[in-house]
Amino acid sequence: MARLKDKVALVTGAGRRGGIGEAIAHRLAREGAHVVIADLTEAPEAGVHPGTGTWETLQAIARDVQALGVQCVPVGADVTRPEQVQAMMQQVATTFGRLDILVNNAGTIVDPAPVWEMSLTAWERTMAVNATGTFLCCKYALPLMTRGEGGRIVNIASIAAERPRPYMAAYAAGKAAVVALTQVLAQEVAPYGITVNAVLPGDIDTPMKQWGFILEAQVLNTSPEEVTRRLLDRIPLRRLGRPEEVAHLVAFLASPEAAFITGQAYRLTGGRELT
Ligand code: NAD
Repeated sequence: MARLKDKVALVTGAGRRGGIGEAIAHRLAREGAHVVIADLTEAPEAGVHPGTGTWETLQAIARDVQALGVQCVPVGADVTRPEQVQAMMQQVATTFGRLDILVNNAGTIVDPAPVWEMSLTAWERTMAVNATGTFLCCKYALPLMTRGEGGRIVNIASIAAERPRPYMAAYAAGKAAVVALTQVLAQEVAPYGITVNAVLPGDIDTPMKQWGFILEAQVLNTSPEEVTRRLLDRIPLRRLGRPEEVAHLVAFLASPEAAFITGQAYRLTGGRELT
């Protein structure tokens, strides 16, 4: 099914192998969309989790997406930098003339810690990527989106927005801000036929998640395997989610079938928040 044939999509944070962004880019392309994939391409500052996107990986992912028969343009952009976000949107405008689908997937966790030990740098960087980055991409994408017919914005938040856990104050606050932004923007752009929704993943098996297991194991003085086992005990479906499963929901929310859904936040957690 090519529900998104010839639509133009932009997915941020799509430059990491095994990440949710890569899965979303593939899925939108399989539905027929041309995809601009964006990520950091410079060495991230100290404290950012290891393995963030590189230009080489972003280009390699773009080649894989192109092999699905659509156009795919890699763009290096830090979503916290207004001038880089504007330049990215300019590139979308020059290449395609409009934008139909924006997926704000770029996200980060910097040095999680109890509030009294959390550095201001960690707080500000986490908020900057997760909350301000989503704001900036929406702000500068919207003029391009109003040129198309309707439009779709899907913000990748987190179940942490609703069920925050210790050490994650900055991340949870940033993702809660994304949900609030989603609800406000949905009302503001409804007259243009643009919908805005959030997806709240729980525990999805990506490099970021595996890094989280290692960190948590250090704090609890145990092994990452033990941390994983304890987590799975709390998930009714008894497994981690797969990046492709987030991508399925994003593709639906980006499709014409979701035209009457806006301002919503969808949990994708295997039921974890119920326990
Ligand atoms: P990931 O680290 O693989 O993906 C995040 C991507 O964002 C990386 O490619 C990274 O380079 C990019 N990024 C970071 N800072 C950026 C910046 N300033 N500008 C541009 N790009 C930047 O992690 P993932 O698990 O695939 O996470 C994808 C999204 O899903 C994130 O927003 C994350 O918070 C959210 N999420 C993930 C999980 C999970 O369990 N994996 C759960 C809930 C929410």
